[in-house]
Amino acid sequence: MKVTIRRVGKWFLWGLGAVVVLFSLYLSIFFFPYPLFPHHAEYAGFSVYSDREIPEDFRLVFDEARSRVEAMELYHGAKDLRIFVCRSQRLFVFINNLAGKRHVGQALVISVAGNAFFSEAMIESVGRRNGGHPAHSRLEGSWSAAIAHEVAHDLVFSEVGYGKARRITVWKSEGYADYSANLASAGADLSYDFRSRIGLFLDDNSWQSAGAFVDRRHFRWHVLVEFLCSVKGLTFADLMDEGVTEEIARSQMMAWYSAPLIDDD
Ligand SMILES: [Zn+2]
Repeated sequence: MKVTIRRVGKWFLWGLGAVVVLFSLYLSIFFFPYPLFPHHAEYAGFSVYSDREIPEDFRLVFDEARSRVEAMELYHGAKDLRIFVCRSQRLFVFINNLAGKRHVGQALVISVAGNAFFSEAMIESVGRRNGGHPAHSRLEGSWSAAIAHEVAHDLVFSEVGYGKARRITVWKSEGYADYSANLASAGADLSYDFRSRIGLFLDDNSWQSAGAFVDRRHFRWHVLVEFLCSVKGLTFADLMDEGVTEEIARSQMMAWYSAPLIDDD
């Protein structure tokens, strides 16, 4: 009897050990993915890792990402996310699946680990599909905008904490990340006009005809948050107020858009 109990105890410990090892391996994919990304470089204060050779033009990409990040309201010089570039889509999908995400997007951020994973294939296919339009949006397929978008999500996590950040409604969370990521590049573009962005969003032909842009929903969230922050002057904290709903934001934006421009002459 004594021997059997001892044997069961032994098997239990072995089983427990195996579970601990497997779970540690699982966590290490998110916390210490370095063995899967042997190529490393430091660009503009970002630590960049890649599964294959890092593309040559990435120095410029990160200079641009840096200026996008520095323009963000929530950026106070904190340590940036480590950037993991998946040039292999198989690797990205593997990590995405392990994280329990069903949707395969342009990137995946693991805020608690300080790591963000990017899919070269997804970012570039968005750019090809939309022909780089509309500029200064997530639909143009820009590497620096995709990186800045994930940094913006991460800054929100640091600002309000993980639990609260997960409860932010998707239009605010995605809209704010897109707005923040594109603030610097839109600001530097002399031809940028926010009114015509609303016009573009309202124009059904731009979204429904063949060769139209994809993902009007994300663009709507971006435009709504841009209206609230740039035109109405809301801060991030103001935007998080539960009284600020998508319906209210939309009706205020439409009233502003349809009002005649005041002529000072
Ligand atoms: Zn996002």
